[in-house]
Order: sequence, then C-alpha cells, then structure tokens
Amino acid sequence: MASSATGADSQPRIIPRPEHNVSRARISNNALKVLYRLRDAGYQAFLVGGGVRDLMLGREPKDFDIATDAHPEDVRRLFRNCRLIGRRFRLAHVYFGRDIVEVATFRASEDDLDADEEALLLKDDEGRILRDNRYGNIEDDIWRRDFTANALYYNIADFSIWDYAGGVDDIRAGLLRLIGDPEARYREDPVRLLRAVRFAAKLGFRVEPGSEAPLRPLAPLLESVPPARLFDEVLKMFLGGHAVPSYELLRRYGHFAQLFPAVDALLDSESGEPYRALLLETLENTDQRVAEDEPVTPVFLFCALLWGPVQLRARQLEAEGESPIQALLLAADEVADRQQRHVAVPRRITTPMKEMMVMQLRLQKTRGRRVLGMLARPRFRAAYDLLCLRARVGDADPALAEFWTGLQAMDEAERAAAVEPGSRRGAPGDAGTGGSAQPSGAAPGEPAPGKRRRRRPRRRKPGGSGAG
Ligand code: ATP
Ligand code: MG
Repeated sequence: MASSATGADSQPRIIPRPEHNVSRARISNNALKVLYRLRDAGYQAFLVGGGVRDLMLGREPKDFDIATDAHPEDVRRLFRNCRLIGRRFRLAHVYFGRDIVEVATFRASEDDLDADEEALLLKDDEGRILRDNRYGNIEDDIWRRDFTANALYYNIADFSIWDYAGGVDDIRAGLLRLIGDPEARYREDPVRLLRAVRFAAKLGFRVEPGSEAPLRPLAPLLESVPPARLFDEVLKMFLGGHAVPSYELLRRYGHFAQLFPAVDALLDSESGEPYRALLLETLENTDQRVAEDEPVTPVFLFCALLWGPVQLRARQLEAEGESPIQALLLAADEVADRQQRHVAVPRRITTPMKEMMVMQLRLQKTRGRRVLGMLARPRFRAAYDLLCLRARVGDADPALAEFWTGLQAMDEAERAAAVEPGSRRGAPGDAGTGGSAQPSGAAPGEPAPGKRRRRRPRRRKPGGSGAG
C-alpha cells in the first residue's frame, strides 16, 4: 500500500483514548448499539467519516457512519431491523424507528472497483462465493475516503482512533487535504471539488495548497457529473447553514459558473448588482434560519438564484411584443429548462418557484377586489417576502412592499377601503405614509401566520433601502 508520500501509510498512527477527545457520551446510542454488536460478534467495527471529525472538533455530527469487516450479509444476520441497499456496493441500513445507522463493509481499492462485478467474485461450481474481492480491509478502505479529516477510524474495541493519512494533525491545523494525488482524486470523482468547498465553508478550514490548486482548473469536470447528483450537493451547500461562505468559494473557484451559468454571467455583468444583493441576502437569511433551527425551503433559494436571469429574459420577450405575464411565464420556463442541464431541480421546486415569480407581477396591482384575493393564495407569503427583498435591493418599488405590509395588518373593512379604486390609503407612491418597507423577517416560504405577526427585531441590513 502507499507510503506517506502519496498520502496514506500502511501502518496507522493509533491515538489511544486518553489522547483524544472523542467520547462515547456524544455518539448516538443507536450507533453505539451497532458498533458493540459487531464487536461482540467478532468483527472489526469503527465509527468513520464526518462523525469522528465533528466530534474531534467539538461539533455535533449530522450522522454516524460505521465501517466494518463484516460483509453486508453478515450484518443483516446480526440485526433484524436491517436492510441491504445498493446493488454493486451493498450497504447495510440498520433501522431504529426513524433513525438509520449506515454500515459499510471495507471496500476494495479503486483499481479493483473498476473491474467487472463478476470478475470480483470467485465462485465454485455450485455458484457459492469462494472469494469476494469487492470488499477489502481497512487499509483499502482509506482510499475511498476523500479528505484526511474524513478518514479517521474510531475503534470500538478500545476507543482509540486509527489515523492512516494524517487526519488528526490536519484537523488540529484546520486543513482540508485530499488523500493521494489531488488532481487524480478530483478526476476520479469531480464531486470532490464541491465537497472541498462545502467542508471548507462548514468547518472554516483552509484547503491545503496542493488540494486547492486544482480546484479552479478542474471546475469544467463538473459538467460530467449527473445533474441530479449536483442538485443534492447544491442543497447540502446552500441549505446546510453555511450558504454564504460556500457561495463565495464557489464563485472564487469557478464552480458557480458550472452550476448556474446564467446566474454567474448576470452577476458579473453591469446590471447584476441588485441580483447579487438579492442572492446574498437570501443566503444570509437562510444561514441565520438554520442557526436558529427554523425550517428552510429550497423554493425561495432557487427563486432568488434564477430571478435575475428570468427578469432579463422576460424583458427581452416583452420588447418582442409579449404581454408582461406571458413574457415572464415563458422566461421562467426557459431559464428553468436550461438550468436542468446543469443542476436538476425537481418540479416540486420549480413549479412553486414559477408561481412566486408570476405573483411578483400580480402584486403590482393594488386596486380592485381581486387584490384582496392575493392574501389568501398559498404562495402569498413567499411571494411577499420576495417582493420585500426586491424592494430592499432596488429591484422593486419600496412603496409597493409597504402597501402589502400595510394591507396584511388591516382588518377586513380597512382592507376593502384600501383597495377601492381611487383610495389613497397606503397607495404606492403616496407621500407621507410614514411607515417603512418593513421586511417581513418571515421564512422564505413560511406559511403566513395570522393577521398579526409577532416578529423578532430584525438585523438591519447595511445599505438596505426602504427602511426609513
Ligand atoms: P457530513 O455528513 O457532515 O456532511 P461526512 O464527512 O460524513 O460529512 P458524507 O457525505 O456523509 O460526509 O460521507 C461519509 C464519508 O464517506 C466521508 O467522510 C468520506 O470519508 C466518505 N465519502 C463520501 N463521499 C465521498 C466521495 N465523493 N469521495 C470520497 N469519499 C467520500
Ligand atoms: Mg456523514
């Protein structure tokens, strides 16, 4: 196996329990049950990946993954609440109610993995498996890990940590370092380019220079990744609580241009400023909500991402003679369709996103009975939030946002009067309404609560327009 010069040693550095801070008290009971049962059945069992890394950093792990020398069938025999998933590389999922503990058998090295499935199995005349080369030992398993910080193995046998790649030192130094030759490892799986960004953003780590150098030049490799997989990665980056630093790194390394070419081009153009501000504020807001354990939805995120290109295209179509509504509908379809080639955004997201966009036009009408009907629309709250945000960044009339803010706070009689043709109450453009375009502070996409909302005092946005 490789020497340290290429990234992993054949002998691990073993850090005994007294010399590290990974405590069983912080490992989930379900993961511990699985680890103990494997150990008691005579197998090797390690906690691996983000679980060990996050515990070392004093963070709460998202999930606990386990690696073992037991084959998937062995694992299934040990746990009644177990299902095997995946075809080529079978993983065992052990269920505890809604909690799932994933158990992976040590994998053979990448070279072997390229070979044909059948070729990896040596069978006797009756078809019984004599040797199964799909699986390997722990030294092979190292090579299916990406960064050294993700390649630490916590051994349930004696609570020590096995470190083959220098992950402990890298974690202590705050460094993300690929195991092996960085360029080769990114080529093997270009999603690792995005994982570098995500972990750097999430952990506040620096990408070690050797692993950082290929990030920009290899960005075009992202074209070859299935758009559905990129969608998953985008959600992890943007809804995981670290959207702002992820976005900044994606832009720095040219990954953003691969994921969202139309948005990227617009952000760099002269007319891009309001959309840059709109996107940044949405990402900040999302991070803040995640930090406060409030729910976030991808609908608002994709709306904020694609709103600029949609507007731009809609204006062209209008100039060509389409009605404003028609132009917006066509533009939204076109932009969303083009986007699918890069990041596959499912319909359950694009459909409400388009509704929110079209509602931006409908919210421009402030007179007539149909105006009140808008308040009851299922997407009203999200569309209103988008309008407020647009007003703050100079992409919509702040008085319009104010009108809708005011309208929501009124009782029925006041509302009816406010939308009367000729009414001056709270009409956009009115002088001296005195109020301000109060941002809603609501969840992107959060359902509208009752008429009166309790709201937390909101952070003032630097440079935010409209707020008195
Ligand atoms: P988190 O769960 O906090 O997002 P994680 O490090 O646990 O981070 P997962 O995506 O859950 O990341 O994967 C678990 C482990 O599997 C990783 O720590 C890494 O060792 C390995 N791994 C996952 N995806 C890849 C990949 N694309 N290339 C190499 N190794 C990977
Ligand atoms: Mg994980």
